[in-house]
Amino acid sequence: MLFDKFKTMADFLAELESKDVKPFGAVTEKLLSSTQGIVNGQNVILAGTNNYLGLSYDARCIAASQEAAAKWGTGTTGSRVANGSFVGHQELESELAAFYGVDQAIAFTTGYAATMGMCATIAGPGDVILLDADSHASIYAGVQLSGADIIRFKHSDPDDLAKRLRRLGDRAKQTLIIAEGIYSMLGDIAPLQEIAAIKREHGAYLFVDEAHSMGVLGETGRGAAQAAGIEDDVDFLAGTFSKSLGATGGYCVSKHQILETIRFTIRSYIFTASTSPSVVASTRKALQIMRKEPQLRSKLWENANRLYTGLKVLGLPVGPTASPVVAVNLEDRNQAINCWNELMGAGVYVNLVVPPASPSTAFLLRNSVSAAHSTAQIDTIIAAYSNLVNAGLISTNKE
Ligand code: PMP
Repeated sequence: MLFDKFKTMADFLAELESKDVKPFGAVTEKLLSSTQGIVNGQNVILAGTNNYLGLSYDARCIAASQEAAAKWGTGTTGSRVANGSFVGHQELESELAAFYGVDQAIAFTTGYAATMGMCATIAGPGDVILLDADSHASIYAGVQLSGADIIRFKHSDPDDLAKRLRRLGDRAKQTLIIAEGIYSMLGDIAPLQEIAAIKREHGAYLFVDEAHSMGVLGETGRGAAQAAGIEDDVDFLAGTFSKSLGATGGYCVSKHQILETIRFTIRSYIFTASTSPSVVASTRKALQIMRKEPQLRSKLWENANRLYTGLKVLGLPVGPTASPVVAVNLEDRNQAINCWNELMGAGVYVNLVVPPASPSTAFLLRNSVSAAHSTAQIDTIIAAYSNLVNAGLISTNKE
């Protein structure tokens, strides 16, 4: 039957329903600040967002957005190719290009449309795409549409990448390598220096998705490529407005003039309505604030280090390095569900991540940190995990 393939998901949702646990249908009924809200009827610390700089609730971004809606209306009602751009779209693109020190930038309606569209378009039939095995769903969706030959390399493994590129011989020059900056689920940072060196050696092209690293890494917040000192090696850099910039939308920047031509061949750009004026305005304001206030990035890292160290000291299975995404890696599904529910009860809302959204077979309690979290909020999150350990609900590597 047509619907048989949905049975596993239906069973899982029924199981959650029977336990009265709602990790996927959580509803924020009221926002009290960018880090506190009423979710599923409970007053909780928001530790499951991607609001890295806390700008989604910034008074200046809200004001810019309100002003733009009053002046330009609520929507553009069409695609930029068919219906034309608003001047704000072009200004946003110029500001992004200036921020990255390149000539070319394209703004998309979502981050998903940006990565998916670019990955579907840059390489085509006869070309090769070599992508990290743990790539985001938007990358996988794009490469499947591209028509290129698709090869995966082991997650963040430069040796495996080099081996596969060597095997391609001359075709390496027609190959697009795809990696991310910070990986969204475990918070690990890609070895971009090594990847860039391999790309250079073989004459391939490099695409980096900086969705979770823009505003987070690099001297001026340009991301993991800036932090690794390899920006010159990046052919296409994509990102999103939905995380550090606190809005919705995405972008791609490039040093290649050809991006301006590619723009008119990207289906997720051509065949969808452009970003609404209020979102363009809040994004531009957030970009300005992010550039002017590097202290937001310092505070984010202070909080990230505090949470990471706190959970590590408890003996919890967190990743190898501190990052604004701190994932507690659990093997057992029921344990993960129970812990998520207990954390909610303790006033802490985190993400429950299950396969296929999580890499391999892991069940993750994904915590994400914001510059807007207070030290007291970070300590409350740590204390909530400590209670889980004391109650024997979560095992530690001290046992
Ligand atoms: N790329 C990566 C690596 C992501 O994690 C995400 C979203 N989580 C996206 C792209 C899509 O971005 P958006 O949610 O802004 O559409």
